[in-house]
Amino acid sequence: MAWSLKKILKLKNNIGSIFDIRIGDGRGTLFWHDPWFENKPLISRDKFRGLRIRRDCVAATVHDIHSRLWVLTITWVLEGKRVIDHLSGLNLCDKADGHLWKAKENEKIKSSAIWNIIRERGQFVSWASFVWSSKVILRHRFILWLVFRRRLNTRDRILAYMDIPDASCVLCSGSLESINHLFGSCSFAKSIWKLFSLAMGIGSLSESWDEIIISAHTFDKGNKFRANVFKCEFVDIIYHLWAERNARVFGRVHRNVNHVWSDIVFDCGALIKMWRRIPKGGRDWVLCHEWKVNYDEVTSFKCFKVI
Ligand SMILES: [Zn+2]
Repeated sequence: MAWSLKKILKLKNNIGSIFDIRIGDGRGTLFWHDPWFENKPLISRDKFRGLRIRRDCVAATVHDIHSRLWVLTITWVLEGKRVIDHLSGLNLCDKADGHLWKAKENEKIKSSAIWNIIRERGQFVSWASFVWSSKVILRHRFILWLVFRRRLNTRDRILAYMDIPDASCVLCSGSLESINHLFGSCSFAKSIWKLFSLAMGIGSLSESWDEIIISAHTFDKGNKFRANVFKCEFVDIIYHLWAERNARVFGRVHRNVNHVWSDIVFDCGALIKMWRRIPKGGRDWVLCHEWKVNYDEVTSFKCFKVI
């Protein structure tokens, strides 16, 4: 079965929460397939699994069952008795069945409510605010996503499926190249993190990548200017460390810490200049100065602090 068709069929079970079925004569509602009872189609319930339903019974409407057709078969399972009891309490009338949208507000269908019902929710991850932040360059976000997913092709990962002559880190020619080393304990990375801490005016970060991530979460909260600068810089560092690693592996180019740092500052500064709202304040002025952003150009704030 095609992937798209499978996805559509999966949605079928959630549709019940969008519609409110008002039973009239019961002829327009399928007994097994429509979510008329407790918002979920009976056919998708585990309790009916194993029950042999005849082909003509599968296509039955609520009206058919209410007229006592196939009731005996349905009540073979306990859940079936409950459904039939509920059905017996319904008074069918001459009106046609009504299928009403539940997701309405002021008589208008609310698309956000429908989307929340039908979308698939993945597992919540603490690093989502970094990877999905609009304040970060898209290409950089992708590399960070690979890092957090542990899918970046570092040499320790390559070793698992291929023999390579040298698996050591090309940035420091020291330990085995891994995500934890490349972005945490590597001397090259440590120098970059040190410059970052100074520029952001925060305490020095740990040498452990896992602890750096934990520290990062304390600074990335909210949409404040400072938090956005932090996110932008943090992700930029990951990207440039990986880019420098690749440049050394494939391009045989070696740049020092200062060169890489100046690229990071340039990228972030260029991005910050494009942000719409830059607050006016002394701390923000200092922050902009660190990232080589001309504060007077991006805001009307004038600070005469001499540095
Ligand atoms: Zn290293």
